[in-house]
Amino acid sequence: MRHFAERLRQAGWRVDYYTLDQDHQELTDALLASRRASGARQLLVTAPGEWRLLDAMKRQWPQKLGCAVRILDDRRFLCTSNAFRDWAEGRKQPRMEYFYRTMRRATGLLMEADGQPRGGRWNFDKENRKRFDGETPPPGPKRFPPDATTRDVLDLVGARFPDRFGDLQPFWFAVTEEQAQDALNHFLEHALPHFGDYQDAMDSGDDFLFHSVLSQYINAGLLDPLAVCEAAEQRYLQGQAPLNAVEGFIRQILGWREYVRGLYWLLMPGYLEENRLASHRDLPWFYWSGETRMRCVAESVRATREHAYAHHIQRLMVTGNLALLLGVEVKQIHEWYLAVYADAYEWVELPNTLGMVMHADGGYLGSKPYAASGKYIQRMSNYCGDCPYKVSSAEEDNSCPFNSLYWHFIHRHRGRFEKHPRMSMIYKAWERMAAPKREAILARAEQLLDDPEHL
Ligand code: FAD
Ligand code: SF4
Repeated sequence: MRHFAERLRQAGWRVDYYTLDQDHQELTDALLASRRASGARQLLVTAPGEWRLLDAMKRQWPQKLGCAVRILDDRRFLCTSNAFRDWAEGRKQPRMEYFYRTMRRATGLLMEADGQPRGGRWNFDKENRKRFDGETPPPGPKRFPPDATTRDVLDLVGARFPDRFGDLQPFWFAVTEEQAQDALNHFLEHALPHFGDYQDAMDSGDDFLFHSVLSQYINAGLLDPLAVCEAAEQRYLQGQAPLNAVEGFIRQILGWREYVRGLYWLLMPGYLEENRLASHRDLPWFYWSGETRMRCVAESVRATREHAYAHHIQRLMVTGNLALLLGVEVKQIHEWYLAVYADAYEWVELPNTLGMVMHADGGYLGSKPYAASGKYIQRMSNYCGDCPYKVSSAEEDNSCPFNSLYWHFIHRHRGRFEKHPRMSMIYKAWERMAAPKREAILARAEQLLDDPEHL
């Protein structure tokens, strides 16, 4: 914000920028001071990324500020909230895959002249599930040393929030459009070619693998999402990156990012109250401290503390999966995700947490829960080798907690999922297990659920 304010000043704008240490309790206090000083009769404001704030802008601000408030569409998205509403209307389950195809057609990204998708398929996911072999060294994100302005803010945050979660140093994020563009170019050149292959992989030796680490820049407006997708498409057209990588990357931005935003505005404010799996346990303290013997969780929380970043599979299949299996209260895990990541804004974090991870919307976002046992984590990572828990066991005292908790989840939600076409096989496998084994697994899970703090 400070770099942006400076850029506007240099372009000739008058900017009233209020810093955190200035004496304004509320955003509207600062606005009122500016309005009075300038004599403005109208406030033009970009729509925010949070329902609560938009509601306040509409219903309270005109009176509080004593002027008209005109809310403008946020142009940093490719699909407006109204266009999404039109698309979703009348669909019982508006699935991302179909929305994504609509967006591909609308933008022409990765489309042939005859209206068919490049490569003859919309989706190359099956090719994108490789375990990281360690042979191709991941390039890591582009890092930028903080300048004097950034150092001032780091000092301010350090002094003002001594008990914060997360490390302030080293700070290496881009803070200007030029730097963010550099970070994008770095990703396109060095990581994009392998993005698809290792999209679902996790590795204790590398916190980023071939992910872009661009979400915080796109969300903050330092990068334009369409320009990012077009730049990735160019790499494919010029033969510098394979189609499975480029399509996988574009789908995340053109598909998932736009889709979760559309859902958020479609379903708020009721969405925040959803808790269809009746999850009510407290969030274990190790989500903040990282102090747990579960290697996969400890690694994901460590990365989160160090970089305010964890990649999607760590968020979804480790910290998210565990919260789902434990049955953590939806609002508590939502608040955690909103607090710990540099890219967190409610419009994107809430559908991912409540819908994708916690299945709390009853399957509106994803038809089946992303629940998984330790076997999935073992297949996609090298965490289990160094873990004191035994990933091959579900009922012994040192068995991997994900295993017994997974079966407990399946068992306790039988009424909801047994008839699901993509889950009936799991119930059959559960039934095929010998009864004493099932009992031992459930007993182990109950023991863990009684004391999740010491996992
Ligand atoms: P890459 O893997 O390189 O993907 C490229 C881009 O696609 C990202 O930069 C992002 O803009 C977009 N993208 C990818 N997946 C998603 C998704 N599921 N939803 C929306 N956009 C996506 N993303 C946020 O931007 N803010 C959040 O607060 C956030 N909270 C999440 C919470 C949970 C529980 C989960 C499971 C996912 C969350 N995500 C969030 C989505 C995703 O994990 C991050 O966008 C991604 O990890 C950012 O890293 P990256 O830039 O390296 O992404
Ligand atoms: Fe995680 Fe279980 Fe593997 Fe340990 S054994 S790293 S707890 S999946």
